[in-house]
Amino acid sequence: MQNIPASTGLGLDSSAVRARMVSQLAAQGIQDPLVLQAMGRVERHRFVESALANQAYEDTSLPIGLGQTISKPNVVARMIELLRQGASGRLGRVLEIGTGCGYQAAVLSHVATEVYSIERLRGLHEKAKGHLLPFRLPNVHLIFGDGMQGFPKGAPYAGIISAAGGDDVPASWMAQLAEGGRLVAPTVTASGQQALVVIHKTSQGFERQILEAVHFVPLKSGIA
Ligand code: SAH
Repeated sequence: MQNIPASTGLGLDSSAVRARMVSQLAAQGIQDPLVLQAMGRVERHRFVESALANQAYEDTSLPIGLGQTISKPNVVARMIELLRQGASGRLGRVLEIGTGCGYQAAVLSHVATEVYSIERLRGLHEKAKGHLLPFRLPNVHLIFGDGMQGFPKGAPYAGIISAAGGDDVPASWMAQLAEGGRLVAPTVTASGQQALVVIHKTSQGFERQILEAVHFVPLKSGIA
């Protein structure tokens, strides 16, 4: 993996490294062209501490402060692809639980019309604001609050994606999903392990799929 200088002047140089990351994502099975395009556009190194910038395009999760982590690119792309299953153009309004450093919100901004992203830790909410400012993404709305309640003001959502894993999918998220919408959330399943759960809201009710095992930070209630 090419070494990326930690601080300045990364803009042009990093595009080649990102293109390589995108080919790797495609080789790993990510097919949605909008997702691949978005992953190629967002400068992931701008969302991590400069000491970690040279690892930003490796397929690895990275610490983002306050004990939280940014998921590896493959997991981000996979979850957004699942969220968009069956969609051809942009998705409508999307809710992200767990803004963290803001990286996934930036990726989502290229595949959805509006992104509402909520974070329970004030320190990370502020950090994400700073990270996103230079990108000027008018369709990203950052909210400081407890995402366990969802965010009713933006509902109903075409997609809800959680970056933190709970014991169950909160009822508020199911209620705030539009008919035809999809929810993707790491959740503890009957086996006691965390797995990706996809819920599709149809006119008949909810269809639930349990997919591969994952390791996300815990979904917690309240703000801090
Ligand atoms: N999508 C993020 C990943 C952040 S890690 C990124 O791209 O960086 C998951 C985040 O979920 C953590 O920042 C954690 O504080 C947050 N979180 C956990 N429970 C939450 C809740 N109830 N409401 C909002 N955010 C929550």
